[in-house]
Amino acid sequence: MTESWEVALVTGASRGIGRATACELGRRGYAVAVNYLGDERGAAETVGRIVEEGGRAMAFRADVSSHDEARRLVDDVERSLGPIQALVLNAGITRDGLLVRMPEEDWDRVIDVNLKGVYNVLKWGSRSMVRRKSGRIVAVSSVVAMTGNVGQANYAASKAGIIGLVRASARELSRYGITVNVVAPGFIDTDMTGALPGEVRDRLMAAIPLRRMGTPEEVAKAIAFLLSPDASYITGEVLRVDGGMSIGALE
Ligand code: NAP
Repeated sequence: MTESWEVALVTGASRGIGRATACELGRRGYAVAVNYLGDERGAAETVGRIVEEGGRAMAFRADVSSHDEARRLVDDVERSLGPIQALVLNAGITRDGLLVRMPEEDWDRVIDVNLKGVYNVLKWGSRSMVRRKSGRIVAVSSVVAMTGNVGQANYAASKAGIIGLVRASARELSRYGITVNVVAPGFIDTDMTGALPGEVRDRLMAAIPLRRMGTPEEVAKAIAFLLSPDASYITGEVLRVDGGMSIGALE
């Protein structure tokens, strides 16, 4: 890899929003580090798509919920590709269930991956940005952080936690010229929402003013904007990409 390529790390980029973001950043000239956990073939496919379009990419396996693995991930990426200039904290899971029946392990795993995972990679990934006094960070939350959702107490808590974490980090890192923002998607057509029962999908669809699901590519464009020089004066912001879903009901 040449030094002249800016490096982006996208967590959870083996499919869905992470893959679309990795491909968008590849098109915009970044060398892309494609993180994944279990789906090695999916990550290889993301890398293949970027390379096919003339870009540069490499896959890196790491569980973002592990403090040590997150550190190793950042070290490996920086050793292989160079200092990380753009960080996309996207990896996330759901373990849905009503609060009164939610097993403790489902609470813990969702918080560990979605919230601690963001802390882990943000902490290690921002270190060289601080030294270089330059960097752009976007974390992927959800409109559920603002609205709540039946059966998603763990997920909503993790996604709301991301917003607090990002706002605190934006204050801490601004003195180094680093911006930290949130993209909060609504109902996006990926494997995550593909698993929802038909009646839940119908209910969600009815709540979207634009009357359709979003695409991963539409979320990727918003993330890429916040990573671009066009967003140089935006930090600590939450950008909703939800077709109007969280505008609120007309009274
Ligand atoms: P997805 O299709 O289920 O993909 C999730 C990605 O996260 C996969 O690449 C997966 O990797 C990775 N991942 C999961 N656990 C991980 C871990 N411990 N370490 C590293 N990577 C891990 O999900 P998506 O719909 O694209 O969602 C992406 C993000 O957007 C998530 O944070 C999600 O909460 C958020 N979001 C999605 C929607 C939506 O409607 N889809 C709405 C709002 C917010 P492997 O496949 O390799 O395991």
